[in-house]
Amino acid sequence: MQEIAAGFERFRREAFPPRAELFRRLATTHTPNALFIGCSDARVVPELITQREPGELFVIRTAGNLVPPHGQGADGVAASIEYAVNALGVADIIVCGHSACGAMTALASGTDMSSLPATADWLRHADASQALLDASQQGEERIAALIRFNVAAQLTNLRTHPSVARALAREELALHGWVYDIGSGDIETVDTTTGTVTPLTA
Ligand SMILES: [Zn+2]
Repeated sequence: MQEIAAGFERFRREAFPPRAELFRRLATTHTPNALFIGCSDARVVPELITQREPGELFVIRTAGNLVPPHGQGADGVAASIEYAVNALGVADIIVCGHSACGAMTALASGTDMSSLPATADWLRHADASQALLDASQQGEERIAALIRFNVAAQLTNLRTHPSVARALAREELALHGWVYDIGSGDIETVDTTTGTVTPLTA
């Protein structure tokens, strides 16, 4: 914890001053143009891998970058999606999976989740992704396939949210699927129709 507090001191001393004008503007305005939905994994830092400054990305991070489909009742993920689309008017939503994802590894390897009941319950939102796995895929290949299928499945879930469906119908919103590789720093884009992946280019 001491290191975190020391980090804050360094932020105030070194990172804040050169951005003082930006933060002064952001104190009253917030107009990010993209929503980034990533995994809670500490190695996947949305602003770092997209080189965004504060105020530029609206971010939701969940275990396994899962997006529950639209349903009844209060749901923090649904509220954040609705706010990003309806109130902030983001033009793009990125769902980003990543290599070595603990959630996807547990699902692909059938790990016993009895000591993690809330996690097991949450990971049911990846059921559609798991259904696409081929029995012949094993080990690392199976995990990599699930990570890709999961990105596509979460984009499908995203489309069930009324705010997203409406913005897509008006062609005011575009959805993107990415897989980030931690070891190489590469990003692949996932084609949600064909399931094929291609390197991300600017
Ligand atoms: Zn993960």
